Amino acid sequence: MILIGIIGPIYSGKRTIADWLKREHEFTERRPFFLLLAVDAELRVRYERWKHSENKENFNDFMDQNDKNWNEIRKIMYMADFIITNSSEKADLYKYLNDLDITNPVRLRPDYDTYFMNLADLVASRTNCIKRKVGCVLVKDSRVIATGYNGTARGLKNCNEGNCESCSQEDGGKSSTCKCLHAEENALLEVGRENKDCILYCNT
Ligand SMILES: [Zn+2]
Ligand SMILES: [Zn+2]
Repeated sequence: MILIGIIGPIYSGKRTIADWLKREHEFTERRPFFLLLAVDAELRVRYERWKHSENKENFNDFMDQNDKNWNEIRKIMYMADFIITNSSEKADLYKYLNDLDITNPVRLRPDYDTYFMNLADLVASRTNCIKRKVGCVLVKDSRVIATGYNGTARGLKNCNEGNCESCSQEDGGKSSTCKCLHAEENALLEVGRENKDCILYCNT
């Protein structure tokens, strides 16, 4: 059920991995989910492979080939779901690929725990606290009931706007009380008393 794309610079081992996937996982048909792998290796390693394969020596020739479409390749590589460093022997690469469990369906459709923890990370990105970044998600029957991130209470000036003396202090805020609420507190304030038996996901 997975379609896998592989991107990487020259002699990074893209074809080796594609062949391995075909061999080990019978990748012949079109599959609806798409996973992008980036593969790379140190320049020296790729240069050695190039020399060996093309029977050439000139480093500048190698670099000409390497730098062709470099920006485009990099841009796509940054979008990859994960990056594989392929610097060693093929046997090590194959072992690594096996351990990665690339075709595990959880990669494309995470289980609930993974999903809600990822969501907690996303929630954390909305924090206004300059000291830490925490996100919390409250879930009931696999549905999100409330979210919360740490920071000053609703209606108050934000921590990152200088409202919390404690968070702004160099001494770690020992001399004054922190005004920032915990992510869990903020999430619990949202749900109220009625919602019992929730599961709390928090990324701290
Ligand atoms: Zn703060
Ligand atoms: Zn504070």
